[in-house]
Amino acid sequence: MSGVSLERVTKSFGDVTVIPPLDLEIASREFVVLVGPSGCGKTTTLRMIAGLELPTTGTVRIGERDVTNLRPGLRNCSMVFQNYALYPHMTVAENIGYGMRVRGTPKSEIDAAVKDAARILNLDPYLDRRPKQLSGGQRQRVAIGRAIVRNPDVFLFDEPLSNLDAKLRIEMRTEIKSLHRRLQTTVVYVTHDQVEAMTMADRVVVMNGGRIEQAADPITLYERPRNLFVAAFIGAPSMNFIEGEIVRDGGLRFRAAGGVDILLPVNRSAAYEVALGEPVVAGIRPEHTVRGAGGTAEVTLQVRDIEPLGPHTLLIGALGEATFTAQVAASVRAAPDDRVTVPVDVEKMHIFRKATGDVIP
Ligand code: ATP
Repeated sequence: MSGVSLERVTKSFGDVTVIPPLDLEIASREFVVLVGPSGCGKTTTLRMIAGLELPTTGTVRIGERDVTNLRPGLRNCSMVFQNYALYPHMTVAENIGYGMRVRGTPKSEIDAAVKDAARILNLDPYLDRRPKQLSGGQRQRVAIGRAIVRNPDVFLFDEPLSNLDAKLRIEMRTEIKSLHRRLQTTVVYVTHDQVEAMTMADRVVVMNGGRIEQAADPITLYERPRNLFVAAFIGAPSMNFIEGEIVRDGGLRFRAAGGVDILLPVNRSAAYEVALGEPVVAGIRPEHTVRGAGGTAEVTLQVRDIEPLGPHTLLIGALGEATFTAQVAASVRAAPDDRVTVPVDVEKMHIFRKATGDVIP
């Protein structure tokens, strides 16, 4: 088993630098997901690990080996692509065993490996079919099977579930996770879907403009986002942001347009004092519009839209200049233009510096 390490890796295409110096250590057996908006450099980073793209500068290691200039076939990585990349004229068994056949592996060994992969991936009944006779999910399993038989040090996945419908995507997430538990191989997985990232990863690396905004386990990202970018990217529906300021008035308070006046928790005073009088942004997740154990504030929205989701309802409204979404009990009845007051759990609030976007820790 091997970890992966990127040391001061950069990538430019012509004059355009898409990855400024990037450092990332991935432990052996870790399941790391690279996530971020389109064009943030996830795929480029993955392709540099695979050897499909050479870094402009910097070093890529797999285990102890410096693989920076090694061609893909010699890195012992297996990559699974979004479009499966199966050979249409070959059967499932032939597709899975193809790489081994090319390397001249004896037939009996190929057959055993293919059978093994098919068993793990529940593909036994389909071994004689061709790709076009399979569903999208089955095709993706074949692509994964082809990666498994190579017994790689590292699995690389590039948006492998994007072509599947929502239900199948959820099933395949579970399958890939349980595959990782069984094989214990290091995984680097690229997606733009934050839910996929959060549900699958040991550690999520949030990228933006070729940089790492934050790398942490899913709960830490959710509970302690380092900056506005991560706070906005992680969580659905997204965190609400309200621009305002911190004032001292019988304790420290966050004030903003729309009558927002929130007494901040006393145990955070020392931290928030540094931002007195400075423009700040308060972040409140829709699901934190509930009474808090450590203090509750209230905000009043002018309701614009009501989304009944079954287990709960989303109220989307205006709060001064800001749009604010509150998650309320399904029993709450509201109509457009109603003014509705909701509680806010102040301990779950975040305050960011407007100038830098960094959270006040
Ligand atoms: P997506 O989710 O849309 O696939 P991504 O985060 O994977 O995006 P990359 O594919 O890594 O992003 O691309 C990062 C940036 O590098 C983009 O601005 C892209 O246009 C640029 N880029 C990628 N490959 C090339 C190339 N071969 N030549 C020029 N520019 C490229």
